[in-house]
Amino acid sequence: SPLAALNSPSPADLWEMDHSHHLHPWTNFGSFQKEGSLVITRGEGCWLWDADGKRYLDSVGGLWCTNIGLGRREMAQAIADQAERLAFSNTFVDMANDPSARLAAKIADLAPADLNRVMFTTGGSTAVDTAVRMVAYVQSCLGFPEKTGIVARDHSYHGSTYLSQSVGKRPGDRVPEFRYKEDGIWHLTPPNPYRRPAGMTEAEFCDMLVAEFEELIARVGADRLGAFIAEPIQASGGVIVPPEGYLRRMWEVCQRHGLLFIADEVVTAFGRLGHWFASEAEFSVVPDIITTAKGLTSGYVPLGAMIFSDRLWDIMGQDPDRWFTAGFTYSGHPVACAAGLKNIEIMEREDLLGNASRMGALFQSRLKALEDLPLVGQVRGRGLMICSENVMNKTTKEPLPDGVNESKRISNAAEAMGLIVRPMAHLNVMSPPLTISEDEVEFIAVTLEKAIRQVTDELVREGFRLG
Ligand code: PLP
Repeated sequence: SPLAALNSPSPADLWEMDHSHHLHPWTNFGSFQKEGSLVITRGEGCWLWDADGKRYLDSVGGLWCTNIGLGRREMAQAIADQAERLAFSNTFVDMANDPSARLAAKIADLAPADLNRVMFTTGGSTAVDTAVRMVAYVQSCLGFPEKTGIVARDHSYHGSTYLSQSVGKRPGDRVPEFRYKEDGIWHLTPPNPYRRPAGMTEAEFCDMLVAEFEELIARVGADRLGAFIAEPIQASGGVIVPPEGYLRRMWEVCQRHGLLFIADEVVTAFGRLGHWFASEAEFSVVPDIITTAKGLTSGYVPLGAMIFSDRLWDIMGQDPDRWFTAGFTYSGHPVACAAGLKNIEIMEREDLLGNASRMGALFQSRLKALEDLPLVGQVRGRGLMICSENVMNKTTKEPLPDGVNESKRISNAAEAMGLIVRPMAHLNVMSPPLTISEDEVEFIAVTLEKAIRQVTDELVREGFRLG
């Protein structure tokens, strides 16, 4: 039994233990049963090593999250020191701990405008879940208990609790075996300029999207809609950078109809776009609520946060008898908050936001060259969020048939060459650590191109006509 090797397993034992006992997020049963998993055992900077000692550049940055890079001794030390001093103390009702107090104050300092209040959560899903619940709470305090509906977009991803996954709506995620909350949630067209209706300019497309929001409000009634939630750039739905002015105009619609604006910055905060938060810095929007996680601790330990305005605090706090009955055992976990503080300190000291801006620009322009390949319809993104979209026909933008799985085949080919890129539908997605160097950008560009060319040759041999 592999259990006999629990304390000193071989690479094959590890693969077997995982294969026999571990249900992974987003498991595909067929491929998992056939291939199992790539077991990773070490990381440093942008690089990972598997159980056999093979090295990979992780262009995915964990999962949009290893912002300061892996293997930092001072980060490990800060976590260890906090675990030794105070591994846990709850933050319910009237208890606090020193790292949670300090991190809340630091986040308030970095967040835009009067977003000075922080509730800690266990990750991004629980931050979104809490934010959506808080919409009803705030609207109720304002005297509008029916104003609870949530407006989101198709192709959005907001997490994997029942509520956050119901608010999100990536097409492939809506499998018939799971149930989703349908009532009280509406989804608008994703603001993807590449997939806009033929013959429409980007500006006309933007007008259409804003009009669609207005029409929804007119149809459902502003008195039943509590908030609009949006990732400033839709990440897992396909690195969708909205048309110029879109987010600001959607915010203005919210202002007109008393909807709260939730920016889901689980991916876009903490440097991914070269800013602490992207909503105001990139899109001129000050949200009522920001949800974040991932880059907050660079993935060293789990932590999320819901950040909200003094205005909302004042609305909720008017009645001294009210209770805010939400939160988690690990809200404000001292070890996670100590990691968050050290993470921000490292980002500030090393100017990682500056490096993200510089390397982001280089990365975008270098990868844009892939659009010359017959299989690549578009390379898009901003900062250190980027994806390439595969198409069968570059003029009609028609994708390859679903079963072809070309993006998975590209990522498999890249993996064999020592590069990890994430396959998603017809996309290959990248979000490397903010510490990435010019040489590493070049390695990604060269290797990804080779992998795409290899799969292109295979597809041509299989009879597909590309271009
Ligand atoms: N929101 C966005 C925009 C995300 O991309 C994610 C995760 O990828 C989440 C929420 C959920 O975060 P978590 O997986 O930490 O629960």
